[in-house]
Amino acid sequence: MANTIPDITLNDGNTIPQLGFGVYQIEPKDTVEAVGKALEIGYRHIDTAEMYGNEAEVGEAVRRSGLDRREVFVTSKLNNGFHRPDDARAAFDSTLAALKMDYVDLFLIHWPLPTLYDGDFVSTWRTLEEFRRDGRARSIGVSNFQVAHLERLAAEAEVVPAVNQIEVHPYFGNADVRAYGRAHGIPTEAWSPIAQGKVLDDPTLVDIAEELDRTVAQVVLRWHVQRGDIVFPKSTTPQRIEENFHIFDFDLDDATMERITGLDKGEAGRQGPNPDTFDYLPA
Ligand code: NAD
Repeated sequence: MANTIPDITLNDGNTIPQLGFGVYQIEPKDTVEAVGKALEIGYRHIDTAEMYGNEAEVGEAVRRSGLDRREVFVTSKLNNGFHRPDDARAAFDSTLAALKMDYVDLFLIHWPLPTLYDGDFVSTWRTLEEFRRDGRARSIGVSNFQVAHLERLAAEAEVVPAVNQIEVHPYFGNADVRAYGRAHGIPTEAWSPIAQGKVLDDPTLVDIAEELDRTVAQVVLRWHVQRGDIVFPKSTTPQRIEENFHIFDFDLDDATMERITGLDKGEAGRQGPNPDTFDYLPA
């Protein structure tokens, strides 16, 4: 079976490679090399954010790769301090300037911050709609939006988010938010797909990996893509970047899919902050 990365078609007609490369917690000094390695292996989708402090290095790596800009899908995100429309406009200009690109493929509101900004993420979303209209963001979406937040956008805004990027891994299935997305044409992007490594010692997953002669990371990433989600595992180790890329040349049967889905611990499995209360503002 050839290891071909499928494209997912978004609700605005654009397509996104289902597997990408995440750069959260990659130091700026290591980013050009890590992203360069990923592009060399064949990844064509990079997930960064203003908050990660490495947009400039992502842009540099894409340029150094020699690939045409149009061949690489680049996502960035609006940082938490810039939700007011004028701040969002300036922050988006800065993102494009740091990347040295004239557009991003996807731009997201990083967190809904419902306890800040008088609970108003709708005017922030309307500002992203401007970026889509002027073509500098080919697609726009959200991250860490709960069902109530998505319902509010549906009631008060024009554009349906092209994706919702949320925490999902075998210990935290995030089932209600995923189900809302499926019902409303909003694909899920699963962040921390291997729970930052915390699922790798799980005995059930270790057994499955041994049965299939794959690594646990490959089995878990395969589980995500068979559920239709978009993933972008992070690593700076060339061998792991390569390993994580090879997940389209085997299948998990239904029983194995269910065994992995059954590891869900509900809210107790959440590793990151709860979006309903998260209110971090960068200094
Ligand atoms: P992840 O689940 O991708 O895990 C990364 C960790 O697992 C790294 O420390 C790495 O050393 C290890 N690892 C990776 N591949 C491995 C392998 N094959 N074998 C063993 N260990 C391996 O966690 P993440 O980086 O938090 O999430 C992935 C991406 O999701 C991020 O880089 C970022 O782009 C995005 N993200 C978004 C948000 C958000 O709020 N929108 C939050 C967190 C992450």
